[in-house]
Amino acid sequence: MRVDEVFRLRCEEKKCALSFEMFPPKGELTLDRAREVAAEFAPLAPDFVSVTYSASGSGNAEATSAIASMISEELGVSSVAHLTCMGLSRSELAEKIDEFKAAGVQNVLALRGDPVPGQQVRDYRYAKDLIPDLVEAGFCVGAAAYPEGHIACDDLDLDVERLKEKQDAGASFLVTQLCFSNEELYRFRDRAARAGVTVPVTYGIMPFMSKQQLERMVFMCGASLPSPVIKLLARYEDDPSALRQAGMDYACRQIEDLVSHGVEGIHVYTMNRPDVARVCAGAVPREGRG
Ligand code: FAD
Repeated sequence: MRVDEVFRLRCEEKKCALSFEMFPPKGELTLDRAREVAAEFAPLAPDFVSVTYSASGSGNAEATSAIASMISEELGVSSVAHLTCMGLSRSELAEKIDEFKAAGVQNVLALRGDPVPGQQVRDYRYAKDLIPDLVEAGFCVGAAAYPEGHIACDDLDLDVERLKEKQDAGASFLVTQLCFSNEELYRFRDRAARAGVTVPVTYGIMPFMSKQQLERMVFMCGASLPSPVIKLLARYEDDPSALRQAGMDYACRQIEDLVSHGVEGIHVYTMNRPDVARVCAGAVPREGRG
C-alpha cells in the first residue's frame, strides 16, 4: 500500500501509525537474513517497514529494493525503500527507478545521503532535487526531517524552511531523525506547522543500548542528550543489561507521551532487533491492528 494512504487511513481512525526501520544485513545471504528479521516484525503489524540504502557508508545499497519487495510481497506489510542521490546522475537515477519498479517498490524515502570524501555532486545536490523525479515516476515519496536541525544547519527556522521545500517538491510524508527529547519534538512540530508543513510526520525513536552506541549516534546526527538519559547512563554504566533495559523503558515512555500528544506516527529505529521492535510496538495502542 502507498504510505500516504496508510497515513490517511490512520488519521481517519484517529490512530497513530507504527513503522520500523531496518538495514540490509551485511555479508552474504543478505536477503535470507533480512527475511528472518522482517518475519519477526510482521506479526507486530507495523503499518510499514522502511529499508535503508547504504546508510552510514555501509555500501549495501544493492539489497534495498529486493528487501523492500520481499517485505511487501511475501510478508504482506507495506514497505519503503530509502534512496540517496549524492553522486547520482540523471541516467543512474533512471536505472534505479527501473530497478525499483521491477521490484514492485511503491514508496521511496528520498534522501541526499552523507557526503563521501572525494565524491562529486552530479545532478542532484539536495533531496528536494530528487523528489520531483520520483513523484513523476509514480512513487509515493517521503523525506527526512530533523527535529533538532540537520547537523550541517545551525538555524532551526531555516532548517524547517528547507523541510517545507521538500514538501513543496512532492514529499507526502516525513520521517524524523532519532531524538531523545519529546520537548524538542514538540517544539519542532510547532516550528514545522508555522512553516506550513502539513504532510504527516512520523517520529523516529531509537532505544539506547550502550554508551558507545549512543555516543556514535549523537556525534553522527547531532541529537542532544537530555539529563534523564545522562543520569541513566551514569547509573548503569557498569551493568550493560540494566542499561539496555533502561534504554527500552525510556523509549517506551517517549512513545507513550508522543501518542498521548496525538502524533501521526512512531518510527522505530530497530537496529534489526526484533526485541526492540516488539517492546516499542507494545507502547503504541494496538486496537484494530494485526
Ligand atoms: P537534504 O534535505 O538535502 O539536506 C541536506 C543539507 O542541505 C541540510 O543541512 C539542509 O539544511 C541543506 N540544504 C537543503 N536545501 C538547501 C538549499 N536550498 N540551500 C542550502 N542548503 C540546503 N543516509 C543514507 O545514506 N541512507 C539511508 O538509508 C538513510 N536513511 C535516513 C533516514 C532518515 C529518517 C533520516 C533522518 C536520515 C537518513 N539518512 C540516510 C541520513 C541522511 O542521508 C543524512 O542526514 C544527510 O546528511 C541528509 O539527507 P537529507 O535527505 O535530509 O538531505
